[in-house]
Amino acid sequence: MKANLPQSGRRHRAVALPSLVVSLILWLALSFVVGPVAARGSLGAQPAPEWEAFAIRYATIPGFRVTGLVAGADTTRRMDIAMMFWLLRGPNGRTVLVDAGFKRADLIDRWKPAHYLRPDSALQQAGVQPSAVTDVIITHVHWDHVDGADLFPSARIWIQRDEVDYHVDAAGGVRNRAIDATDAAMLHALRSSGRLAMVDGDAQEIIPGITVFTGGKHTFQSQYAAVRLAGATAVIASDNLYLYENLERRVPIAQTLDAASNVAAQARMVTLASSPRLVVPGHDPLVFWRFERVSADVVRIR
Ligand SMILES: [Zn+2]
Repeated sequence: MKANLPQSGRRHRAVALPSLVVSLILWLALSFVVGPVAARGSLGAQPAPEWEAFAIRYATIPGFRVTGLVAGADTTRRMDIAMMFWLLRGPNGRTVLVDAGFKRADLIDRWKPAHYLRPDSALQQAGVQPSAVTDVIITHVHWDHVDGADLFPSARIWIQRDEVDYHVDAAGGVRNRAIDATDAAMLHALRSSGRLAMVDGDAQEIIPGITVFTGGKHTFQSQYAAVRLAGATAVIASDNLYLYENLERRVPIAQTLDAASNVAAQARMVTLASSPRLVVPGHDPLVFWRFERVSADVVRIR
């Protein structure tokens, strides 16, 4: 400590400096130290940080029946649906995923996805190491969103408390079969190791600049996320909105516990986002055409 104290000789030289030079030094110090603080606003009232958002496609499921996506759709319609998750890159290296895709061999055998890349590998192709993910926001417990949650070893896993309690019992068993047994056990293990962060309800800003909302009713307590970008807000709807078609025709998703709630949630998403264009559906391949392409299977949402 003592070695760091200024020597008396240096203090004398500082006193001898002309007052103009001292003023200049003070002005520079104020510019560099006080300026940025003032720009961020007063303490306790800082604006939300700005994030960059990307959609990453890790697979395609060919020939999916549109009746499973859009309520009342023509039964002959089929679509190659995009399997995707979302990457949010924030200040100070905070790296957030919305959903985590799937990895289990039995799911790959059953669904036979085309161009499948395990989600952690798909993330690496987007330039992010799996160990760098600090948070994963799980929108709901379906296999294609939750199954990859434990691929990211450093991440805190955010999920609605009611979504967990409704589907998973205290011992990690299945309480409601919307969740697969393996995924229920995995969530239970994450809970036991203290990595599960339970969210209590609607309009919760769980991370500065990222707010989750309920009411989509794709599952019991599915959630979606609004993200503050530079000069705009985007909504990552996940399966609370399967396709742009749901939004554009105001038609509920085919799989919902409450169609009226789902339509209301879709209308709310439009008010939360800066523009309807920035409401991002969960499985629409058009996402990879409507936004700026970063690479073959990555687009930037803005
Ligand atoms: Zn899905």
